[in-house]
Amino acid sequence: MEKLTGRVKDLARCYGAGTVGITTTQMLEGGPPSTDLSYVLPNARSAVSFAIPLDHNHIAPWFNKKNYQAHFQNNIHINVMASGISLELANYLKNKGFPSVPLSANTAYRTDTKNGIYDEKPPISHRYLAVRSGVGFFGLSGNVLTKTDGAAIILGSVVTEADLIPTEPIPAEENYCDDCRLCKAACASGFIDGEEKITITMGGVDFSYSKKHHHSRCDYVCGGFTGLHKSGKWSTWSPGRFPIPDNDDEFFPALLNSVGPYLKRPRPGLSLFNALMPGDRVQLTCGNCQLICHPDKDVRKKRFKLLIESGVIVQNPDGSLEAVTPEEAIKRLASMHPEKRTLYEKI
Ligand code: SF4
Ligand code: SF4
Repeated sequence: MEKLTGRVKDLARCYGAGTVGITTTQMLEGGPPSTDLSYVLPNARSAVSFAIPLDHNHIAPWFNKKNYQAHFQNNIHINVMASGISLELANYLKNKGFPSVPLSANTAYRTDTKNGIYDEKPPISHRYLAVRSGVGFFGLSGNVLTKTDGAAIILGSVVTEADLIPTEPIPAEENYCDDCRLCKAACASGFIDGEEKITITMGGVDFSYSKKHHHSRCDYVCGGFTGLHKSGKWSTWSPGRFPIPDNDDEFFPALLNSVGPYLKRPRPGLSLFNALMPGDRVQLTCGNCQLICHPDKDVRKKRFKLLIESGVIVQNPDGSLEAVTPEEAIKRLASMHPEKRTLYEKI
């Protein structure tokens, strides 16, 4: 098993992963339902977890709203790469005689919950496997942070019947999260509570992060239906300017009301494909809580400054997105034909 564990880690690293860790079923005992490895493989014994860094060169141009395509393309590429590494790892383990299941990096949901895929419950949580195996640690945001790349990573996992040799969590004193709350400040939806924390226990080890509000908050903003921060001074990459409610239960109706305009907006260029989304296509517009979190606090502060000082996004008639001052955005919207304007805001 020592040799096999080493080869599994080597394979993941050779194919592009950064940190690699291993958890076992015992190490996950007592964890949330999405740590139950038998959900995807009844006789599962362990799981491989790994992180692939996103390209940091594209993050500042994303926050200062100068380059939309570069990070979007990189995000797609790294997600596909994580799913691909999982598939290669699972094939390798199967060929060694150990039944194994690769997990998709994203957009895989349980179908046996009350609302099926709309509950957005993953078969297995990459995040829990990653923190339990020492690939990274939880930040206040609930994102997994790594020592080198912060939260700017994509996680992948494979579940296997092999008794791979486990790795230990990173000691709490090595977690760089200092509760700076810039992740919360960079979130226009209010998804991250930032004050109240929750603790989960896996295999006798406690892990804490901020309570989250209803996931429809993130769906509404990160899904691109709207993007203007309540201050009116900055936005995500979404040109939508529909109001962001205060209460969790107002988000789903707000989201439903914005579906029509969302579907009618031009969508040139790249798309993510997700069956949860109206029209099955989604443009990446946020991810701020993830991209802002760098191990160096000065970098975090710089990214936040770029975000809030780079204005708001408007959409041009050819579908391109442009950052303008908040005042200019109001003028551009006011000059639109009312039918066009309703694609972006309520009038
Ligand atoms: S942005 Fe700050 S508070 Fe949020 S996870 Fe990162 S270090 Fe922690
Ligand atoms: S992805 Fe965007 S909307 Fe969703 S929690 Fe993070 S910052 Fe908030």
